[in-house]
Amino acid sequence: MADTISVINPATEELIKEIPVDDSVIIADKVQQARAAQPAWAATPLADKIAAIKTFRDLLVERADSLAATLTAETGKPITQAKNEVLSTPQRIDFFIENVAQVLAAQRVYQEPWQAVPGTGQLEEVITYDPLGVVVNISAWNYPYFVGANVFIPALLTGNAVVYKPSEIAAMTGSEIAALLHESGIPNDIFVPVIGTGLAGATLLEHPIDGVFFTGSYATGQKVAMAAAPQLIKVQLELGGKDPAYVCDDVDVAAVAAGLADGAFYNNGQSCCALERIYVHTDIYEPFVETFVQTVQGFKLGDPTEPDTYLGPLSRKPQISVIEQQLQDAVAKGAQVLCGGQSVHRPGWYFAPTVLTNVTHGMTVMGEETFGPVIGIQRVSDDHEAVALMNDTDYGLTAAVYSSDRARAVGILGQVRSGSAYWNCCDRVSPQLPWTGRNHSGIGSTLSTLGIANFLHPRGWHLKRYRK
Ligand code: NDP
Repeated sequence: MADTISVINPATEELIKEIPVDDSVIIADKVQQARAAQPAWAATPLADKIAAIKTFRDLLVERADSLAATLTAETGKPITQAKNEVLSTPQRIDFFIENVAQVLAAQRVYQEPWQAVPGTGQLEEVITYDPLGVVVNISAWNYPYFVGANVFIPALLTGNAVVYKPSEIAAMTGSEIAALLHESGIPNDIFVPVIGTGLAGATLLEHPIDGVFFTGSYATGQKVAMAAAPQLIKVQLELGGKDPAYVCDDVDVAAVAAGLADGAFYNNGQSCCALERIYVHTDIYEPFVETFVQTVQGFKLGDPTEPDTYLGPLSRKPQISVIEQQLQDAVAKGAQVLCGGQSVHRPGWYFAPTVLTNVTHGMTVMGEETFGPVIGIQRVSDDHEAVALMNDTDYGLTAAVYSSDRARAVGILGQVRSGSAYWNCCDRVSPQLPWTGRNHSGIGSTLSTLGIANFLHPRGWHLKRYRK
C-alpha cells in the first residue's frame, strides 16, 4: 500500500496535502479495537447515544462553513451545494433520532389466553433486536455527509461499532466527520475511520466483521459482495443509476424543462440519482429541448469557491475520458450535440455541460452510467414507448414522470422498475422513505425505518409460562 494519499484540488490541480494511509497492520488493529469495544456501546443507554449524535448534529451546523470549504477543496463541489449538503444532513439525523426507539422496541406479537387447567399455561411470542456488531461502512465521495450519515448514524444509534472507510477523494472530509463524532462523545473505538484507497476497503473485508454497508459503483459493489460472501454477513449495496424521466404532453413545458436541467446537472451530474436519460413526448419535444438548452447555457461554470457557481470541475480526472468515449460513440452513431461536448480550457477538470439529442439505446451514453454533466434527450411517440425505454436498463434506482394527470403518471411509474418513483419531481431524497434500488442499483435500503432496522438482527422469543 502507498504510504500517503495525495489530495488534489480538482479546480486548480494543485496538491492540497498528503494524508498518511492505514496499512494492513493498523487496519487489523482497528477492527479488533472496534470488536472489543462494541458490547459496552451496545449496553450504553439509548439516551446517551442520542445525546452524542445530537451534539454531532449541532456541530455540523455550527461549523458548516469550514466543513463545506474542505468538501469543496477536495471534490470541487460548488460551495453553495457543499454547504447545502452539510446543513441538510441534520434533517436526516433528526429522523433517525426520532424513530430509533420505535424500531428497537420489543414487540409482543402473540399471547395465548391464560389456561386454567394445571399442566398448561400461557405462550407468549416476542421479537427483540440485537445490533449486528462491527459493521464496515465503505463510502462514496460524491455526497460524503449524506451517504455517510445514512449508514453510520443509524448504525451507531442501534449499538453497532462502525469501521468507516471514506473514499480517498473525500478523505479530508472523512477525517473531519470522524473528529466531529469523537468530539461529540462517540468513543474512538466505536467510530473508527480507516484512511486509504480501495485497497484499504478490500483489506477491511478480510477481517471478521458482521456487516458491510457500501455506497459506490456497481463494479466495486460486486467485488465487495464477493469478498464478503465467505463470511455470510449482511451486505448492503447502494449503487449507481441510469435514471430516466419521461415528460408527457400535458405539462408546463418551461417549468418542467428548468427543473429537469437541475436534476441532470446538479453536482455536475455526479449523483447516484442524477437524471441521465430524458424521454419527451413528441407533441412538446421541440419547445422542451429549446428551453432545456437555454437553461443549461445559463448555468454558471467556474471557481467552486464562488457562491454563485453552479458547475465546478469534475471530482475525478479519469471521468473525463469516460465521458469523451461516450460522446464519441454517440456522435459516431448520429447524436447531435446541442451544447457542450468538450472539456473546458482552463486549469482543473472541467467539462462543459452537454445536451445530446437524436440519441438511441444503441449508444453507450443511454445505457451506461455517465456520472458527469451530460444528458441525452430522446423523442417518444406515446406512454407505451416511454415505459419500454425507461425499463431498458440494467439499473433501477429512480424514475420520474411529469404530467398534470396523477393517475396517468402513477400508472406509468407502476410499470417501471425502480426503487424510487417521482411524480413531477426528480433527484429527491427523503429521510422518511426508503432509498433502495433494483438490479444493478443495489441491495437493501437506507433511510426510513427500514434503514434503521437493517442494522439489527431480530430475535424471536418463545416464552412459555407454566401453571403448577
Ligand atoms: P467506487 O465504487 O469507485 O468507490 C466506492 C468506495 O469503495 C470508495 O470508498 C472506494 O475507495 C472503495 N473501494 C474501491 N475499490 C474497493 C474494493 N475493491 N473493495 C472495497 N472497497 C473499495 O465508487 P465512486 O467513489 O466512484 O462513487 C460513485 C458511484 O457511487 C456511482 O456509481 C454512484 O452512482 C454511486 N453512488 C450511489 C449512491 C446510492 O445511494 N445509490 C449514492 C452515491 C453514489 P476509493 O475511492 O478510495 O478508491
